[in-house]
Amino acid sequence: MNTTHHSPATTHAVSIHCMASEKTRAIVLKLVEFSESSCVVTLFTEDFGKVGALAKGARRPKSAFEGALDLLALVRIVFLRKSADALDLLTEAKLERRFRSAQRELARLYAGYYVAELLAELTDTGDPHPELFVAADQTLFALDQGAAVPETVLQFELAALRLLGHMPSLAECVVCGRPVVGEGRVPFGMTVGGVLCENCRPGKRGVVSVSSGVIAALRQAATDAEAGRELEGSTRGELRAVMSNYFAHLVGRRLRMSEYLGVQAG
Ligand SMILES: [Zn+2]
Repeated sequence: MNTTHHSPATTHAVSIHCMASEKTRAIVLKLVEFSESSCVVTLFTEDFGKVGALAKGARRPKSAFEGALDLLALVRIVFLRKSADALDLLTEAKLERRFRSAQRELARLYAGYYVAELLAELTDTGDPHPELFVAADQTLFALDQGAAVPETVLQFELAALRLLGHMPSLAECVVCGRPVVGEGRVPFGMTVGGVLCENCRPGKRGVVSVSSGVIAALRQAATDAEAGRELEGSTRGELRAVMSNYFAHLVGRRLRMSEYLGVQAG
């Protein structure tokens, strides 16, 4: 340690030397005040998955982040990876696209928050899912462009389930693989992850009875990437309840934003 005065910039350059500097695109999931001038930001990055980073000086008017650290914004970042449990250090963030729905419509804002919550809860720090990043980016963009909210949210949920290996079985019994062709109501195992035939249903925990119309709507939405089709009003409420219940089982508790998804335009 030498005794001459270091400007902050010099000290910074020295510390960069022993850490890996990474560049990627990211979606801002969460911002928490850390000190008077800094905050801790949770990002879902394209190349490194979820990242928790300290943004020093982010709360000062003239920071290296120039107001880019806005909830749900798409940003291009540079960060320094720390080892073990230490927070990474965010050194740069440039805004690519702000999530504008916040100023337009509550239902869109809530849908955006829900996307962020799903990403934060369903993925692990440092576990990359580039396709999920693309799906999330497209979803936020679609919400901003005025796409139908319930259909857009459902498409993202199904994409996330598929890409993270949690897609429920919707046509065959999740236990024995026999086709389940339900009229009326179909048993759906929340814990085992899918529909059940009458033979496999007994003794299973977390089984709910779902209308065959909702199962059919889910199956159709899962196989058809086009989000344009409108969900029927009668199906919509039950479908929301099933998805909310299923994600609660996956995460281990009810998602905070799921109850706000029924909010209509306005
Ligand atoms: Zn079965």
